[in-house]
Amino acid sequence: MRTEHPTYLPRRALCFTAVLIAAIAASAAAAAANTSPTAPVAPPFALNTTCTDAGVLGSATAPRLVRTTHSRHLRSWTYGWPVKPFDRQHPVRGFLNDPRSTFHFGIDIAVPDGTAVYSVTPGTVAIISSEVVEVLGRGSSLFAYWHVVPAVRHGQHVDRHQLIAHVGRGWGHVHFAERQGTTLVNPLRNGGLGPYTDRTAPTVDEIGFDSQGLVVAAHDTPDPRVPGAWADEPVTPGLLEWRVIPASGNATTWRTAFDFRSSQLPDSRYREIYTRRTRGNHKGEPGQYCFYLQRPARTGFSATVEVKVSDSAGNTATYAAVLADFPTRL
Ligand SMILES: [Zn+2]
Repeated sequence: MRTEHPTYLPRRALCFTAVLIAAIAASAAAAAANTSPTAPVAPPFALNTTCTDAGVLGSATAPRLVRTTHSRHLRSWTYGWPVKPFDRQHPVRGFLNDPRSTFHFGIDIAVPDGTAVYSVTPGTVAIISSEVVEVLGRGSSLFAYWHVVPAVRHGQHVDRHQLIAHVGRGWGHVHFAERQGTTLVNPLRNGGLGPYTDRTAPTVDEIGFDSQGLVVAAHDTPDPRVPGAWADEPVTPGLLEWRVIPASGNATTWRTAFDFRSSQLPDSRYREIYTRRTRGNHKGEPGQYCFYLQRPARTGFSATVEVKVSDSAGNTATYAAVLADFPTRL
């Protein structure tokens, strides 16, 4: 034992060092993978939605993917992430204007409970409640951090990247909102939060009718993929456009069902945009996002409906479905 002991210890120490080096290398590789444009793209997932009723108003074929266009535009940003590392993209599991009985007013950055949260700008702290910290920056910009335990005092000045809070127990994310004047703006717009690269175009799950009109089920896939129990749950596309191509004659011009890319929409528009079958996400239970195209559906003939869904990064997917027997009585 005595002779083995001295050799055993250094070997173990060496082994530990090797493991440590390997771990550091692996985490560095993982960090690099998240920022590299060649990192694996989060695979789009299909959802088994129930936004339409077959045969209630007319019938519809399953949406067929016509084309996908990936944005090649380089995105700029003015501030970094509110969690470390500041210069690396983190998974986002809630988008601005997601359905939450009203429009979701920020983005949900998926991080473990207890994660340290830092101010993205210098400014003055306002403690809004035991779980909400706001930082008033220069001009009329304001940043809000929800579901956190504050680590600063009301009225305190903070520098950029100063610790302000920790994510509260059970939340598993920080809700991050940005206000310019009285407008809640999209942190993921070009010129907002970064670095942020989204390489996954949105998906259309259904095109068809419910008792009210012509509806679409659509979602976007968070990139990078959200880990854990909230993986593969939908976020909203940024823009949804559609047009009708009759069996004979010209296609209509593209119409916009909604544009969520720049700012939060007023609550008064919520029931115009989301149908009543819309359900928000729950842990381990993906929601379904159902949107009105036309209410009531007025087309009195069979036609192809094309739906184009885009995200705030400019990735676009176009789907088509053949709709038959539109009722003229509507
Ligand atoms: Zn939120």
